[in-house]
Amino acid sequence: MRLSRSFIPTLRETPAEAQIASHRLMLRAGLIRQTASGIYAWLPAGLRVLRRISQIVREEQDAIGAQEVLMPTLQPAELWKRSGRYDAYGPEMLRITDRHDRDLLYGPTNEEMITDLFAGGVKSYRELPQVLYHIQWKFRDEVRPRFGVMRGREFLMKDAYSFDIDTQSAIASYRRMMLSYLRAFQRIGVKAIPMRADTGPIGGDLSHEFIILAPTGESSVFYDGRFEQQDWRAEAVELADPESLQRFFMRMTSLYAATEDKHDEAAWHDVEPALRREGRGIEVGHIFYFGTKYTQSMGVAVSGPDGAMVHPEMGSYGIGISRLAGAIIEASHDEAGIIWPMPVAPFRAGILNLKPGDAACDSVADALYEAAPDDMLLDDRADRAGVKFADADLIGHPVQLVVGPRGAASGTIEVKWRASGERTEMPLDAAVALIASLR
Ligand code: ATP
Ligand code: MG
Repeated sequence: MRLSRSFIPTLRETPAEAQIASHRLMLRAGLIRQTASGIYAWLPAGLRVLRRISQIVREEQDAIGAQEVLMPTLQPAELWKRSGRYDAYGPEMLRITDRHDRDLLYGPTNEEMITDLFAGGVKSYRELPQVLYHIQWKFRDEVRPRFGVMRGREFLMKDAYSFDIDTQSAIASYRRMMLSYLRAFQRIGVKAIPMRADTGPIGGDLSHEFIILAPTGESSVFYDGRFEQQDWRAEAVELADPESLQRFFMRMTSLYAATEDKHDEAAWHDVEPALRREGRGIEVGHIFYFGTKYTQSMGVAVSGPDGAMVHPEMGSYGIGISRLAGAIIEASHDEAGIIWPMPVAPFRAGILNLKPGDAACDSVADALYEAAPDDMLLDDRADRAGVKFADADLIGHPVQLVVGPRGAASGTIEVKWRASGERTEMPLDAAVALIASLR
């Protein structure tokens, strides 16, 4: 993209309404704009981030055999009356009436709808397990929307739902999902640690929140430092083998990790002191096994192996895609701006043409841009160099390719790595090779 022709409205001033760094930086870098309290428009650079996050999550969902669907944002109230949640959900639910006086709602989550869709398509235990997911906007009329997209009212969520014939198989689905989450967060480039969470009336160990570490997080967390070293992508797990899944799960849950409300001093003292880590965190995902809660209340059953009807066991699994965009920034920024992890950066590199109109600068900058025009933001504006440096740092490209008149005359480019601040000079062909290697 050429910055001179794009809609990336960066701001010099710090917006007064933004209390935390990610909110300020998302506004200043031109990623989002608020359109109503807790409701945001995603501008071109912000939308690229949302898409990159979504795509990684999608690939890791598909890798465990989950199937993508797309359910609507609007749901009939009828469905929620069947599960008994219509009245129970309270004022967070946005209720809507259509011209025929039918009650609708803007979905805060989709357990009811997916259970109903499942019932219409699956009749026998032979068709199980089924795992379905979608990436769709949700609405929750939060009392206090704040921190920008981190606690919005309309927000993008990936939500998945599993259906299994029995508890053992449902637990295997849960564990596969956990692995999928660990791998997705690792690919995105963040440390998200699974922490035991409230399970409600079902009990057991089958709810986890995934928490990203950041000083401004809403909850305090305690965890074993070895979590930071885990390579979940290299972890050999046989997805179809419950024992292999169990070994992975046991290995993972043997490392202590808990939020403040679940913190267990006795277990904490068993962790080697040198490995104990304390900090604050942001919830970016939540997975839950809840058995037959919805299949029972909504009267959904399939025929079992002996012919008797069985209520399938379910789990639901959410990732806050739009919250993640903010949480990643919260975990990775400095005074000057955002420091994107390469896999979710809106642009993998920024090309700074310091003197547009200068023949040598234009030719070098264009050659770099043509190497990967979809992944680059070429700053070809007529502005001063200082403005370009500031905007590149603010938008947070992992790599900056600086083309100045002196270097361009001899065919050299200055490369700056945003995270380390390291700078090197290289000839054009080396810079083109570098662009090709950026992943
Ligand atoms: P929280 O405790 O932060 O209010 P929750 O527990 O109500 O979240 P879940 O129902 O578990 O949220 O939703 C799954 C995921 O959706 C959360 O882990 C979070 O990442 C995201 N999410 C939930 N509420 C919001 C919101 N208001 N704005 C942005 N993302 C949200
Ligand atoms: Mg939650």
